[in-house]
Amino acid sequence: MNIKNVTVAGSGVLGSQIAFQCAFHGYQVTVYDISDEILEKAKTSFQQLGENFRRDLGATQQQVEAAVQRLAYSSDLPTAVKDADLLIEAVPENPAVKTEFYTKLAASAPEKTIFASNSSTLLPSQFAAATGRPAQFLALHFANEIWKHNTAEIMGHPGTDPAVFNTVVDFARSIGMVALPLHKEQPGYIVNSLLVPLLSAGLGLLAKGVADVETIDKTWMVATGAPMGPFGILDVVGITTAYNINKMSSAPGAAQVSAFLKEKFIDTGKLGVAAGEGFYKYPGPAYKQPGFLQ
Ligand code: NAD
Repeated sequence: MNIKNVTVAGSGVLGSQIAFQCAFHGYQVTVYDISDEILEKAKTSFQQLGENFRRDLGATQQQVEAAVQRLAYSSDLPTAVKDADLLIEAVPENPAVKTEFYTKLAASAPEKTIFASNSSTLLPSQFAAATGRPAQFLALHFANEIWKHNTAEIMGHPGTDPAVFNTVVDFARSIGMVALPLHKEQPGYIVNSLLVPLLSAGLGLLAKGVADVETIDKTWMVATGAPMGPFGILDVVGITTAYNINKMSSAPGAAQVSAFLKEKFIDTGKLGVAAGEGFYKYPGPAYKQPGFLQ
């Protein structure tokens, strides 16, 4: 299976990054979204992404312009997928929206097209039937700021064809990702299966008053050699995400954590690095200062 043409469905935060990453690595990319107005906004995101690639990766203006030239746009699904070898879905994290999208896609895409979902929390087996081609469907999960945090977790469902799986692993490498194959379905893949419990445990210790932010982070950093502790990481992820996860969770202590985050952080606008303050103040957070680990 030879992948040349890629269609990315959804041009939001992740979809725009995935599309640009693929175009930057030489693929012809069609960006699909529900309206031409939204696609116009995506063009602005691509300008910004070009700047980021120059700043963080040392990409040249010529490379960025070549990537932009490889991007095409369509708000008509049959047109957007007519030549697609691979469709990467990055539509909203809502099971009803995704099911409806795959049902329409099943009716429009050529037989050859492989479908890959970037869903963070939903499993491919949930949508396999709606795709109409379960053997050619799997998850390909990227992290936010894909050009820097270049993980690609590849996770099939029990009906995924191993040859399709391997094609997507090779594709992920070809766009500059570290390909991370999973052998079975796992909610949260590998990264969130590790990260969410760590962040929740840190928040639990804080909300219960066991220790303060800096002591908890310092413990993790000194004991494991990690460059950040749970609260440094939470500021990068964004406290709104942590709040939403705890609000929806029925795990012991989650209600206490979500009430704590709402009062101290959400209601006061301390939402993390992007807001200039979360658990730490930015730029130059305390955990990066010399002597923090003493
Ligand atoms: P977003 O809200 O920024 O973007 C979603 C885009 O999908 C919007 O442009 C919207 O107009 C479009 N859309 C809505 N309905 C559509 C439809 N029927 N067909 C095509 N496009 C449609 O969302 P996002 O943060 O980019 O997340 C998209 C997916 O990526 C989700 O499954 C999410 O779990 C996953 N993801 C997000 C992150 C992250 O950090 N934001 C990280 C990894 C994975």
